[in-house]
Amino acid sequence: MTQSARARRARLQDQLQVRLPHQPELVLVTDLDGTLLGGSSAWRRRLYAWLVEQRERVLHIFCTGRDLRSVARLLQEEDRLGLHPPHLVIGDVGCSVACGASLDLVPLAVEPIEAAWHGRPEVLLPLLAGLPGLSPQPVTADRRLAYDIDPEALDRGRLAVIEGHGVDCLVSDNKYLDILPAGVNKGSTLLALLEWLEVEAERVVTAGDTLNDLAMFETGLQGVMVGNAEAELVAALPRLPRVYRARGVGCEGIVEGLRHFGFGSLLGDLAG
Ligand SMILES: [Mg+2]
Repeated sequence: MTQSARARRARLQDQLQVRLPHQPELVLVTDLDGTLLGGSSAWRRRLYAWLVEQRERVLHIFCTGRDLRSVARLLQEEDRLGLHPPHLVIGDVGCSVACGASLDLVPLAVEPIEAAWHGRPEVLLPLLAGLPGLSPQPVTADRRLAYDIDPEALDRGRLAVIEGHGVDCLVSDNKYLDILPAGVNKGSTLLALLEWLEVEAERVVTAGDTLNDLAMFETGLQGVMVGNAEAELVAALPRLPRVYRARGVGCEGIVEGLRHFGFGSLLGDLAG
């Protein structure tokens, strides 16, 4: 390890208030809505219980479009099914990185994103205000802007003009529009985090269901597209050779994918 890599890792360890598994056997990176929150209650309970049992062997990362306040609310609600906080959270479609339990930001990961976002809202908000088919989402989005879209009314050609201002426009599920600092997405933030954590790529499996997960699948890491994935994401499959298309919905699909990628022995009884 180079000196700068060692210094970076030491700084990251300082900022993480969670103890991460030492040399995890699996790094499981899950989208939330439709993926880790998808599937039958029975499958969800089984997978959540397994994640708690395997906490020392499986490093779990949420990778979601939700902001951190919404993740906090969700963890309270889903406690009924046994969902525990993960080790780390990538939120705001890649624009936030936080410790799992406290949901405190990890400055090392967030500072470059903040710098790329600086000054953008002042330029973009007046432009977006005049665009038909957009309504701001009632969330506090950080380092990004979030809208609900009316697909009939929105002229997607206008988004190219917005992208000329140093941002990427990401439409997901034909319902949501996220405006992100250029080059920042779930995939870019995940890759940066994995580099800091010095995780071997072969130990990583990602899972998702909508177009905001495409960037994760485009990293070339092993990925599971769950059975309920949106049609536009499924259409991208031919150019995603490392991605397994599961039949199972949500949690069942995640387990099916883990078995496909050779983690059956780690799954134990869960593998069925
Ligand atoms: Mg989703």
